[in-house]
Amino acid sequence: MASLPVDKFHDECGVFAVYGHPEAAKLTYLGLYALQHRGQESAGIAASNGDELVCYKGMGHVEEVFTPQILSGLPGYATIGHTRYSTAGDTDLKNAQPLMVSCQKGQVALAHNGNLVNAASIRRELESRGDIFQTTSDSEVIFHYLARSKHSGIPEAIADALDRVSGAYSLVMLFKDSVVAIRDPHGFRPLCLGRLGGAYVVASETCAFDLINAHYVREIEPGEMLILNGEGTTSLRFAPPTPKRCIFEHVYFSRPDSVIFGRSVNASREMLGRLLAKEHPADADMVVPVPDSGVPAAIGYAAESGIPMKMGLIRNHYVGRTFIEPSQAIRDFGVKLKLNPVRTLLADQRVVLVDDSIIRGTTSRKIVRIVREAGAREVHMRISCPPTISPCYYGIDTPTKNELIAATHTVEEIREYIGADTLGYLSIEGMRRAVNDTEGDYCLACYTANYPTVVQEPLIALRHRD
Ligand code: SF4
Repeated sequence: MASLPVDKFHDECGVFAVYGHPEAAKLTYLGLYALQHRGQESAGIAASNGDELVCYKGMGHVEEVFTPQILSGLPGYATIGHTRYSTAGDTDLKNAQPLMVSCQKGQVALAHNGNLVNAASIRRELESRGDIFQTTSDSEVIFHYLARSKHSGIPEAIADALDRVSGAYSLVMLFKDSVVAIRDPHGFRPLCLGRLGGAYVVASETCAFDLINAHYVREIEPGEMLILNGEGTTSLRFAPPTPKRCIFEHVYFSRPDSVIFGRSVNASREMLGRLLAKEHPADADMVVPVPDSGVPAAIGYAAESGIPMKMGLIRNHYVGRTFIEPSQAIRDFGVKLKLNPVRTLLADQRVVLVDDSIIRGTTSRKIVRIVREAGAREVHMRISCPPTISPCYYGIDTPTKNELIAATHTVEEIREYIGADTLGYLSIEGMRRAVNDTEGDYCLACYTANYPTVVQEPLIALRHRD
């Protein structure tokens, strides 16, 4: 089976949890469905009936993994769920989440969005002491420290475990009588709290609340541990907050209909486009988004510039992961399958092409060619973030530094490579303005190479990359 080439950073994972609802597993299924864009390799749900935990997970999309029969085998009022794209560890079922163990703290399941930057060294140390690991996932080290903690209380034992790990973790944990939602002190990845009648829901993004008619209450704060149980909610601070939210969640990862980090993603993206138009105006006849993720920024660019936006590229939403490409017969077949030009719109036009990122440059080059071959007279590429120069270690699957075209080429060299008439990237200041980052609360490391933590290679020997 061939995989279609996508020159984007890969989404990481989505987590979801319910406490206090008789149909918790079904709600979690729907929540994961809304978070499918954050990971398509595997999906899983763990449920508690108050006495014991059961877990089911499988490879594939949420609707491929779960059937009504499987969901009815996950009874109880409390659940956690996970959709996964592997950022650390192999791509196979043993690494699918939730992970579940029985230890001296009882049965516990865990779903993790993010990546622990010190997992490899912790694991080497624990293995040298005789610990046995069941997966190659970075998340498993949290269980080992939880089980070893001398504290008998669950919150204290969790805090003890979190004290040993570093990096990005938005976690939901399930015990037989509670759900615990946790965000690392930097708050790299989003995690939101909602209400559905008398029940509590937790999700990576608020788009998952909309699907089940839950309402958004607030973010889980960086450094916060929120316990949901029969007594309601208990908020504990396990570390002082030092916010470094991932700015790329606003640029690309999160769905535009979500509110994350307390902001509308769509509003951020339109503002990115508006500021891009101010910084890099173009003399052109139309603004064309690279669908789907480039659309909100193109709307902002068009609104600011006064140049009309046209859907000059159409995305085919029905290209499955398992589509079998007919050998190398046609170069660029993958991109053409996904994006098709509207020739009647593009012919003889001066086009501003708006996209949200250039990673390797290969896809941008093909898209520019598609637009030119459709008859466009000029192609002015505009990117709604700064050049991506450094990999992410916080839960996003990125190419190595050498594969990032902006790490080794100037903007002019990239323009030449992709074949555009002009190329403009939004500045770092413009990007920060678009998300109202007045306090330096965002991680910008893939644009600056200034990492907010010490960076160790995340389980590099165990890591699978296609
Ligand atoms: S390095 Fe980039 S993608 Fe990773 S957390 Fe920071 S801003 Fe986000």
